[in-house]
Amino acid sequence: MIIILKKDAQAESISRLETLLKNKGISTNTIQGEHRNIIGLVGDTSVIDIQNLMAQDCVEEVRRVQEPYKKANRKFHPDDTVITVKNNVIGNGSLQVIAGPCSVESEEQIITTAIACKEAGATMLRGGAFKPRTSPYSFQGLEGEGIKLLLKARQETGLPIVTEIMSEADLDLFTDIDVIQVGARNMQNFRLLKALGKCDKPILLKRGLSSTLEELLMSAEYIMAEGNMNVALCERGIRTFETMTRNTLDISAVPLLKQKSHLPVCVDPSHATGLVSLIESMSLAAVVAGADALEIEVHNDPKSALSDGGQQLTPAKFAEVMKKVKDIAAYMGRTLGK
Ligand code: PEP
Ligand code: MN
Repeated sequence: MIIILKKDAQAESISRLETLLKNKGISTNTIQGEHRNIIGLVGDTSVIDIQNLMAQDCVEEVRRVQEPYKKANRKFHPDDTVITVKNNVIGNGSLQVIAGPCSVESEEQIITTAIACKEAGATMLRGGAFKPRTSPYSFQGLEGEGIKLLLKARQETGLPIVTEIMSEADLDLFTDIDVIQVGARNMQNFRLLKALGKCDKPILLKRGLSSTLEELLMSAEYIMAEGNMNVALCERGIRTFETMTRNTLDISAVPLLKQKSHLPVCVDPSHATGLVSLIESMSLAAVVAGADALEIEVHNDPKSALSDGGQQLTPAKFAEVMKKVKDIAAYMGRTLGK
């Protein structure tokens, strides 16, 4: 349920309203919008008599929100959420490009790749230190050592770091990381989501392999319910009957998520398609569809990559893709970075 306040609502009347709601066991979330202020109600709102609320001096309108996600709902928060990451901003109409290898493999690999990504125009660096692999016999990542190498690459390039967490037990290792990624396989790891909700870092939440958009928004709600509002959603392809691509990129998820939610939306064309030859076209499609960010895998030598070699771009190919991304972004009135 949301309460839209009158433009001239008096503080005293608002505080009476808040006490009334609190006494009914409802928690409130006041959002100062550009045009009007809104109070979002979380809890069992069936105990509330709408007529009673309408009778309060400060109330303009009361609306029930049917969707189970409240804090992530655009009805609760009409303005876009804007997330600041060092000197970059996600969700303010700019376009962020997060690029880097699937896995951090060595100092030379991550630094060389990071420098090349930056030169081509990437605004953030990605790299997996903890890798969620289908097989326990595949490379599992350099873990803590990988995090240290990412921080070295940040020192070298100034690019903020995006990297995946797989367990809340590792949170201490992420203290200096700029954006914590929750991978597709952990989208419904609710204990992890709750732990991330208690920290103040931006979270990049990837859509589960077989998750609906509502389930994705409910996972964002888990993080937000604990107090962390800095959540960006990421469409990374879903499982369908199609086998020619690794997954199927649900491009319609981008405008739909932006209609339903105020959270920024990122698109990962690398895991969505698994094919180098499709990264450029899917990146351009994502920008046109309104994505706030792209996450693209780039490796200094994809043939020798320890994971996802077949979908990682060479730095030269990434630079080509970036030229077109910049052109399309400009056409759409977007600027890269800030
Ligand atoms: C990744 O980005 O490194 C990754 C493993 O992606 P996803 O969780 O989308 O499969
Ligand atoms: Mn990968």
